[in-house]
Amino acid sequence: MTDYHMLINGQAVSADESFDVLNPATEEVIASVPKATSGHLDDAVAAAKAAQPAWAALSMDDRRAIILKIADRIEENLPELGALLSSEQGKPMEGFAGLGAMFEMGGCLAWIRYTASLDLPVDVIQDNDEARIEVHRKPVGVVGSITPWNYPLLITCWHIIPGLLAGCTVVAKPSEYTPLTVLKAMHLINDLLPPGVLNVVTGSGDIGAGISSHSGIDKIVFTGSTATGKRIMESAAGNLKRLTLELGGNDAAIVLPDTNIEEAAGKIFATAMINNGQTCAALKRLYVHEDIYDEMCAALAGIAASVSTGPASESPDFGPIQNKMQFDKVCALAEAAKADGATFMTGGSPLDRPGYFFPVTIVKDIPEESRLVQEEPFGPILPIIKFSDVEDALQRANAVSVGLGGSVWSSDLEKAQALAARMECGTAWVNNHAMIQPDAPFGGVKQSGVGVEFGRYGLVEYTNIQTMQIAKG
Ligand code: NDP
Repeated sequence: MTDYHMLINGQAVSADESFDVLNPATEEVIASVPKATSGHLDDAVAAAKAAQPAWAALSMDDRRAIILKIADRIEENLPELGALLSSEQGKPMEGFAGLGAMFEMGGCLAWIRYTASLDLPVDVIQDNDEARIEVHRKPVGVVGSITPWNYPLLITCWHIIPGLLAGCTVVAKPSEYTPLTVLKAMHLINDLLPPGVLNVVTGSGDIGAGISSHSGIDKIVFTGSTATGKRIMESAAGNLKRLTLELGGNDAAIVLPDTNIEEAAGKIFATAMINNGQTCAALKRLYVHEDIYDEMCAALAGIAASVSTGPASESPDFGPIQNKMQFDKVCALAEAAKADGATFMTGGSPLDRPGYFFPVTIVKDIPEESRLVQEEPFGPILPIIKFSDVEDALQRANAVSVGLGGSVWSSDLEKAQALAARMECGTAWVNNHAMIQPDAPFGGVKQSGVGVEFGRYGLVEYTNIQTMQIAKG
């Protein structure tokens, strides 16, 4: 068992107390991690605050060069980091459609390198005899990053890299379920950054709340549940922190009767089950027109029956659910759907072995009111709901309090786009779902979040505007 350290002001820091990290495939303890006190958090914030002016004073090109070296350093350690990620998160190294741990590692490189290419140009609003008016983007200051357990390192990169590029310094807090890869990676890149620019504290129970209420932190970027996002918004009010909140979704897809089932079924399956369904923008409610309902259900069940679920050591398609809390939630939603009279075409019960294994589960003939349809399962279970009237399907798709993503599937792209535009969500896909990329903004509407990540739209969220008015004559 390896012991891990926090990273505060460029130093490896331990704590009097620690907590265990489990491998979700075995439920065995694989590491012990320091449990930060509020004193550690204060030290990390003080270090970030002290380091911020000099970091912001570097040119954007200097920071860009360091960030590119960060990508190179992570790339040099890719297999080791990927294996660590697999052991704490549970995802297989390759997995279904190659979307396992090494996919996440590749995503880290792609996001870091693309983000490093961005700029924050000065916008000249007016330049005449009267005045020159410029709009500058200045770093918000110290950023608190709170990341989840589904894509631990990728989401950390999404949070910290635009912050660093903009001239912010960071205090990061990885999920207590999956802190290892983040700690390992941040220590690996530590020597590339001035002390205090990037700090990592680990803990659970109160460190997150300590970050969101800390008067020395200027912005919070959080990925996780809507409930916690609301608590963050409340406790961030003290010093009016800037917020980027990427919260839960319950993404609907509407499959129109002219859809090519053979082509669509594989994509629908992959985007519903990506990362074992533990993806904020995975397809989670599938509305299929009655004319093709049985055929689509059979096609999806056929794929589900052909995939394997097991520990990474068996090179399966899918691994365990990452933690017991989520595993219990998926089991409870499956039981609720059974009680509601739904038909389980595959899966439906946990595997009889150690670890949090739940097989890929396809559920049809399920009532709209079932908890499995109304609540985000965040696991490998897909409810398929039949519709006859497309307006009714759209109304049901939009009748939830969240709005992260949505999709329409059809062979008529124009018709599909017109319908997708009426979905209440931050990203609408046509004939795809859950596909994100470093240059396209991503965020939720309604209770799925505040603000966006990625690309120049995401980068500016780490800045405040300063309008410069220079009077002439
Ligand atoms: P949460 O979304 O509830 O987040 C837990 C994290 O938030 C921990 O790091 C915790 O730190 C921190 N936290 C808790 N309270 C506060 C606060 N007041 N201010 C700041 N930080 C706080 O994650 P869970 O793991 O409990 O998952 C719950 C649900 O969230 C899942 O069932 C799933 O549906 C969804 N989810 C969504 C994800 C997404 O990508 N959008 C990712 C993962 C989960 P501490 O313990 O130190 O307070």
